[in-house]
Amino acid sequence: MSKIVIAGNWKMKKGLEDIRAFCKAIVSSLMARDMAGVMPILAPSYPFLDLMQGELKGSPVKIAAQDVSSHPAGAFTGEVSAAMLSSLGLEYSIVGHSERRAHHDESNELVREKLLMLMDNGIKPILCIGETLLQRDGGSTKEVILEQLDGCLRNVNIYNAENIMIAYEPVWAIGTGRTATGEQAQEVHRIIRSWLNNTYNQAIADEIVILYGGSVKPENLAGLLAMPDIDGGLIGGASLQADKYLKMIDIALESRK
Ligand code: PEP
Repeated sequence: MSKIVIAGNWKMKKGLEDIRAFCKAIVSSLMARDMAGVMPILAPSYPFLDLMQGELKGSPVKIAAQDVSSHPAGAFTGEVSAAMLSSLGLEYSIVGHSERRAHHDESNELVREKLLMLMDNGIKPILCIGETLLQRDGGSTKEVILEQLDGCLRNVNIYNAENIMIAYEPVWAIGTGRTATGEQAQEVHRIIRSWLNNTYNQAIADEIVILYGGSVKPENLAGLLAMPDIDGGLIGGASLQADKYLKMIDIALESRK
């Protein structure tokens, strides 16, 4: 059984002092818990990746980037390469977040290039997919999810289920306070697992961690984790406060009992 992942996506919302205070607030409590069944991940903005690794050294928290360049190196002002992330010792990076797709026109093809760049550099992508409200209301959720999986993972070799995570994040639930019900999320997670089975094999399909994201908070996390195909959360707003983040870790630990 894989670990439950509680991943916080901080977007562009936390600066230096705030991050220092957050790390201070969680580090000793996390070290005091038996974290065998839960993997905490936090994704700050680029300038704080290294700092956070230092602040949380010795704790079970893994630090992730929020994005990566599709280029290996060169004249790409403002971009950060997978090799640079890897040189920091990072293990994870979010890729294909719906905010990148919406505000920076990221296509499935571009997300695929970024994902390959991460994998080539030994970083595990947390691939985000999800439908808009218009697509859900129009009845095309399944089609959109399959198109995103086909587009982002075309000919991508996943030798080991641990090499990648998938985050199902319905766009209409991100930052809106409107969460998918456990059943709505489960239905899509099942579709993703069955696509993985058809494309790769049963072991990969069974073992890949599939996160749900979209207004997850302490109040709804237990219900989501009770679903058979939901292995954790990719959490924006509720991961910004240390007490809420710790509470969600405890809920995840409890769900493992
Ligand atoms: C996200 O940032 O991926 C996210 C799901 O945000 P929120 O939890 O705030 O909806």
